[in-house]
Amino acid sequence: MSAELPTQARVVIIGGGVIGCSVAYHLTKLGWNDVVLIEQGQLSGGTTWHAAGLVGQLRSQSSMTTLVRYSTELYARLEAETGLATGWKNCGSVSVARTQDRMIQLRRTAASARAQGVAVEVITPEEAGKLWPPMATDDLVGAVWLPGDGKANPTDLTQSLAKGARLGGAKIFERVRVTGIRTKDGRATGVSTNKGDIAAEIVVNCAGQWARNVGRMCGVSVPLHSAEHMYIVTGRIEGVHPDLPVMRDPDGYTYYKEEVGGLVMGGFEPHAKPWGMDGIPDDFEFALLPDDWDQFEILMENALVRVPQLAHAEIKKFYNGPESFTPDNNFILGEAPELGNFFVGAGFNSMGIASAGGAGRALAEWIVNGEPTMDLWPVDIRRFGPFNANQSFLHDRVKETLGLHYAMPWPNRELDLARPLRCSPLYDRLKAKGAVFGSKMGWERANWFATENEKAETEYSFDRQNWHDAVRREMKATREAAAIFDQTSFAKLLLQGRDACAVLNRICGANIDVEIGRSVYTGMFNSRGGYESDLTVLRLAADRFLVVTGSAQPVRDFDSINRNIPAEAHAVLTDVTSSYAVLGLMGPKSRDVLSRLTPTDLSEDAFPFATHRQIDVGYGICIANRMTYVGELGWELIVPTEFAAGVYDALHEAGRDIGLMDAGYYALEALRLEKGYRAWSRELTPDINPWQAGLGFAVDLDKAGGFIGREAILEAKGRPVTRRVVQLTLEDSSPMLWGGELILRDGKPVGEMRSAAYGHSIGCAVGLGYVDRPEGVDKEFLMAGRFQVDVAGSLHDAKLHLKAAYDPQGSKIRSSPSPAKAA
Ligand SMILES: Cc1cc2nc3c(=O)[nH]c(=O)nc-3n(C[C@H](O)[C@H](O)[C@H](O)COP(=O)(O)OP(=O)(O)OC[C@H]3O[C@@H](n4cnc5c(N)ncnc54)[C@H](O)[C@@H]3O)c2cc1C
Repeated sequence: MSAELPTQARVVIIGGGVIGCSVAYHLTKLGWNDVVLIEQGQLSGGTTWHAAGLVGQLRSQSSMTTLVRYSTELYARLEAETGLATGWKNCGSVSVARTQDRMIQLRRTAASARAQGVAVEVITPEEAGKLWPPMATDDLVGAVWLPGDGKANPTDLTQSLAKGARLGGAKIFERVRVTGIRTKDGRATGVSTNKGDIAAEIVVNCAGQWARNVGRMCGVSVPLHSAEHMYIVTGRIEGVHPDLPVMRDPDGYTYYKEEVGGLVMGGFEPHAKPWGMDGIPDDFEFALLPDDWDQFEILMENALVRVPQLAHAEIKKFYNGPESFTPDNNFILGEAPELGNFFVGAGFNSMGIASAGGAGRALAEWIVNGEPTMDLWPVDIRRFGPFNANQSFLHDRVKETLGLHYAMPWPNRELDLARPLRCSPLYDRLKAKGAVFGSKMGWERANWFATENEKAETEYSFDRQNWHDAVRREMKATREAAAIFDQTSFAKLLLQGRDACAVLNRICGANIDVEIGRSVYTGMFNSRGGYESDLTVLRLAADRFLVVTGSAQPVRDFDSINRNIPAEAHAVLTDVTSSYAVLGLMGPKSRDVLSRLTPTDLSEDAFPFATHRQIDVGYGICIANRMTYVGELGWELIVPTEFAAGVYDALHEAGRDIGLMDAGYYALEALRLEKGYRAWSRELTPDINPWQAGLGFAVDLDKAGGFIGREAILEAKGRPVTRRVVQLTLEDSSPMLWGGELILRDGKPVGEMRSAAYGHSIGCAVGLGYVDRPEGVDKEFLMAGRFQVDVAGSLHDAKLHLKAAYDPQGSKIRSSPSPAKAA
């Protein structure tokens, strides 16, 4: 431990768990040596010390898999650098399936592991039994074997990272508590502690389950809540040896690893127990909660089925440790949108040991570079809004999130608890009409509409789900008549001021300095030329722009725009999302419907594509924006909230005789995929540039003043495109695709599907995915290959489309800007 607390440092890290130590280590590796880490107790004494230490590489998002794979490499080599062992053992892991559905999921997992370059093998129950002798296998359907997985000793790992950080110049102080965050002009400038103040350029909140409280010290919301997580340690068990792989039995909610000839057995029960409702005591150090055998019963019952010897094993210790969980079971990383220079790395949902290496490096790079160096959206702090830190919401939500680790990851799975949260003004109307809701950014959104004879509830499956026919109806209405989509959840940001145009033009890739009344589809880019967002900009006046962006991104896009408004510029950004509902009126007969309700001339000449006007609709007013995300004639009606119900009723009344229907997000997704429209966070990510996305036409490299990311995009233009977004349809009309499937070209893995759906207009599954090739993916390469998609282990022939699979009037996708706004 270092001796005297300094009065200033470049970076102060709060928290000496595995995460704080990893951030300190990686900062020093990047050459930032003036780093101070402060721990209120002893290193690892918070949550880290009692972790089970499992390190499983495969995550549902490929960027997250990249982080854990780096962790495994780091843990394997750290001892050589620091002289302190990490306890890393590359023992591999076996995951078993009790049901056919679970086996489908494991096969899908295996295929996506291959897509991500992770070694994996689908094995029989007998082979699983050989790898893991104490296990009963007679009820199993199959298993997968991941030889690269392993386990680490959490305390040793933390100490080794701390030593590495110290060797790099970091100073570590134990028994010092941060009591306040110092701020000036919207930026963190240091910390106050019980032993004095430290001025700092950067403050990093790695305070584990205390991180929400530390955030509150400076008005930063860190939405996490503790829940109890339990495991037991047994005496010796026959067949258990030091090289025994980790074993997971997700249908039985349990995991197992060897420890001193016995087993660590713990799990993730479906109904978790929140803890720490009145705050986490400061002195909760090397502490545990009381044993709770009632809560543990469901795990124990299932463990006895899998490892019968447990019935006679000695129980040496019951560990009940609290750990912090987030609303979506992903951790929280990044610079707080509320406070500049204040970073957060917390909420690790019982994956902190596995994630620490990669997450620590990613956060350190973010700090040093001023922006992430890879796609971190799944864990980005800006995916949450302030409402996510509501205590009652968090308390109820974490009851469900802990169990998600082993719950069946059904396609389209929605969370059930702490809902409804945010409701559009049409919520009750849609519900009464059979809407089955999903949730995004807290908004309840109609996914599909059940008729009176159908059950208004989604029944999950890897095959066609019970809404298949409902979505067919909704798509047919959209393609042949008209449909209304409640898209109120779209984020809406208003930028106003004398300099608004110049400021926004520098942030957006397309030229937004257009005539008043025009709407521009554009990307926002990072310095690597990757998509930070894609959105539509409506020029309402010379000095006023409405930015309409994806439902998930209001905080992120607000932050991206706001941080790029120069201090001296006259431009003010306001989030007006709650002020407007959005009704998407889409379909070839949408003009007929709308013209019955408005005196405005809606003809092609008077109201062309990519323009907007304020119009009357019934008794209400709205901004009608001639855009579509489904590839049909249509308007997005941006309606002041109080008029929304009236406008909605009037549209239905006017469209009754032409077959106007309500339609939901499942139909919207399938319609956009048939047209090949890209969505941000799926096909368009911070790691994808416009050439790779096939959207080069939607950036203006020549506009005056340039834009953020222009140089990187220009430079990429001269290089071969090594990754490309492609559209694929299956030749066989039966199978479903959901996204995440492996793509093969001439039998060799070349990429993965990013989004997929059933395209009822074209009669087969359709999706967008990436194809990778280091030498470049050009038209010849794409056209010369035979493509297949791996659907849970079976290969299906696929057709690759260079023009949209659905386009009866000829391809529009390249000639007119994709009006894509992430749904
Ligand atoms: C029973 C159990 C089993 C687990 N098993 C696994 C596993 O197998 N694999 C896996 O990957 N993960 C596992 N985990 C999760 C893992 O333990 C955590 O995700 C990880 O330890 C979190 O690390 P951290 O650094 O964020 O938090 P912590 O270790 O809690 O560190 C935060 C530190 O911040 C300090 N602090 C807080 N406030 C202040 C302040 N104001 N001033 C100074 N210091 C402060 C605290 O004292 C604490 O030491 C498990 C967790 C539990 C509970």
